[in-house]
Amino acid sequence: MLPTAVLDEARRDLVSLPGVGISPLEISHRSDWFDRVIGEAEADLRALLAIPDGYRVLFTQGGATMQFSMLALNVPRSTNRPGAYVVTGAWGAKAYAEAARLGPTVVRWDGRDDGYIRVPDGGGLTGDGTDAYLHITANETIQGVEWPSGGEPDAPALICDTSSDFLSRPIQVGRYGLLYAGAQKNAGPAGVTVAIVREDILAQAPDGLPLMLDYRTYADHGSLYNTPPVFAIYVLSLVTRRLREEVGGLAEQATRNRAKAELLYDLIDGSEGFYRGHAVTGSRSLMNVTWRLPTEDLEGRFLDAAAAEGLVELRGHRSVGGIRASIYNAMPLEGVQALAAFMRGFADRNG
Ligand code: PMP
Repeated sequence: MLPTAVLDEARRDLVSLPGVGISPLEISHRSDWFDRVIGEAEADLRALLAIPDGYRVLFTQGGATMQFSMLALNVPRSTNRPGAYVVTGAWGAKAYAEAARLGPTVVRWDGRDDGYIRVPDGGGLTGDGTDAYLHITANETIQGVEWPSGGEPDAPALICDTSSDFLSRPIQVGRYGLLYAGAQKNAGPAGVTVAIVREDILAQAPDGLPLMLDYRTYADHGSLYNTPPVFAIYVLSLVTRRLREEVGGLAEQATRNRAKAELLYDLIDGSEGFYRGHAVTGSRSLMNVTWRLPTEDLEGRFLDAAAAEGLVELRGHRSVGGIRASIYNAMPLEGVQALAAFMRGFADRNG
């Protein structure tokens, strides 16, 4: 979901931007208007995330999936200095697999044998200290497994895929070498990806990379080496402005997100085993709440009955089954309350 106020504003200005007279779908990326928009988007991200000096904010295309390749190409690796991965779910596994195609790579922790129900303890993940980088996935969207705030490991070059919890809570950017996020969960529409890169990581990129896979191409040209996704960045700028001016920042957004998630987790925990949460306490996602019912048949009936009440998009990812409620920033508390009321009734009728 995107905030309704953002959709309304984009719709109002879709045909003709006030004072400009051109649609944001038509306007040049070299226009003064877009200069201002991309500048504001970056300034808002810097303010919201309290990004310290020494980091560049880049806007790329290709989604988080392209970042899997790009980061693996930009940080030099060797057999004595592999790229290291903590695999807490399906997306971390994909990030690892792509890096492994491109160079020396190791897995420092893998939750697969448990069915990806937890994140590891943050300590002891850095091997003998010679890894080129350590990659984590802040929130595993499919399994609903999220690092608790502040629980992530310390590593000299910590890299984080924060696609599905970006802008949902404050991040200590200074602990990371590189953070990246496809925008399409909390930050905007599909088509733009944000990368926040520490300058020492930029500086060590090898020469000879394809231009569009070299972070320096974006850093050196203000993300305007070629035509960026103008409309996606425009909508992202509306979202970040709203987060600053109306929500009041990421601490407040996180408080709201916690309240929404707790409603569902408390209900699951109080259901006497009728609903079984997938992730263990301490690794539970505030964005994607995942759970099972006693049988697949009941899960099917749950989904049908929920849809009949207008509660949709609850089917778990096809690779894991069960139920998944994605409760991103723009999902109102009332939406989660409606789901909780339905869940209570369904358990009473079928438990
Ligand atoms: N990482 C995570 C955590 C995701 O949730 C997703 C998409 N849902 C991706 C990576 C892949 O993103 P994209 O489709 O933008 O390449």
